Amino acid sequence: MRSLEIVDVTKNYGEFRAIKGVSFEVDPGEFIVMVGPSGCGKSTLLRSIAGLEEISGGRILINGRDVTREQPSERGVAMVFQNYALYPHMSVRENMGFALKIAGATRAEVKAAVERAARILRIEDHLDKKPKQLSGGQKQRVAIGRAITRSPEVFLFDEPLSNLDAALRSQMRVELGRLHAELSATMVYVTHDQTEAMTMASRIVVFNAGRIEQVGAPLELYNRPANRFVAGFIGSPRMNFIRARVLALDGEYATLTIAGMEESLRLTAPGVSVGDEVTLGIRPEGLGEAAATGSRIRGTVAVIESLGRETLVYVDAGVLRSFDSESQDGYLAVHRSRQIDVKQGDPVTLTLDPETLFVFAPDGTTVRFPER
Ligand code: ATP
Repeated sequence: MRSLEIVDVTKNYGEFRAIKGVSFEVDPGEFIVMVGPSGCGKSTLLRSIAGLEEISGGRILINGRDVTREQPSERGVAMVFQNYALYPHMSVRENMGFALKIAGATRAEVKAAVERAARILRIEDHLDKKPKQLSGGQKQRVAIGRAITRSPEVFLFDEPLSNLDAALRSQMRVELGRLHAELSATMVYVTHDQTEAMTMASRIVVFNAGRIEQVGAPLELYNRPANRFVAGFIGSPRMNFIRARVLALDGEYATLTIAGMEESLRLTAPGVSVGDEVTLGIRPEGLGEAAATGSRIRGTVAVIESLGRETLVYVDAGVLRSFDSESQDGYLAVHRSRQIDVKQGDPVTLTLDPETLFVFAPDGTTVRFPER
């Protein structure tokens, strides 16, 4: 039996359809991360699972039980919010035990559940403090602890790490992974941060504009994105996108021309037609240094980010620009997993190796993946 089934769910706000018929299933013990840009509907769906929003169509099942019309407290879910939502006048112990107490648990049961959760989250020393005496990370642990004490059938997380600084966020990612393994619980987690999705998820659900673009394991989405949206969303820095035109076809092979490059490229691209404007995709680590094979791209170093064990270089390649990339400003992003000795303005030669290229058809569908 599935832990959670989302069946053709729609949600309208007046005339506006925030969720446009979404279906997926979650197996027991999975850590599902719903990811997508701001406004894509992921929080609305999570809140709908929790029962905080009434859906306009479809059904939601938890462990086979249709909960679509049930009250939030009847659904067997516990939700952790971005802003912690702790009761300021209660101690940590009281915050964590409150829901159980209201549900009629005995004092001994509440005490045992709170102490177990505190042990799992390593906050035993803070049980008698008030929320204002805690750091952001500690508050978020208390919020998670409050969910754990309820032993829910499904845990729901709504951007729980967004208010934490970068170091704490990466520590909490590891902790949440450990928590998931320790509890063997089903978790559904919403974030706009693809790093959180990649590092924690058993499977990622990629949302865009109220629809699902793709569902898959993190590396499946990274290596085999179904379309240009997923390819651009998963991976940091983003995939470089280059416009190309289909000049000729020869069986499964297409000859492509790229503005700003003298040589044409020949590669497999099933399903495209002569004259099509296609998109080439290349990951920052796929842009090779000058080599014997592949087409050369000459450019200059525009920006360098030396991160210690790795280096990101943004290359200005003249008219050959990466498009659809707010963060890269038209530069080609290049990744090297080492320190390199370059400075702004240095000339560089990169290689566009057909083996490392994705090709997206005019409608965005991936028609070719790199050869591995
Ligand atoms: P974010 O990461 O910014 O929270 P999201 O993907 O979680 O984005 P939702 O909060 O689910 O997005 O919102 C989806 C869409 O529904 C948005 O366009 C939003 O403006 C709209 N929306 C959400 N709540 C309401 C509401 N109560 N009334 C009207 N429109 C709403």
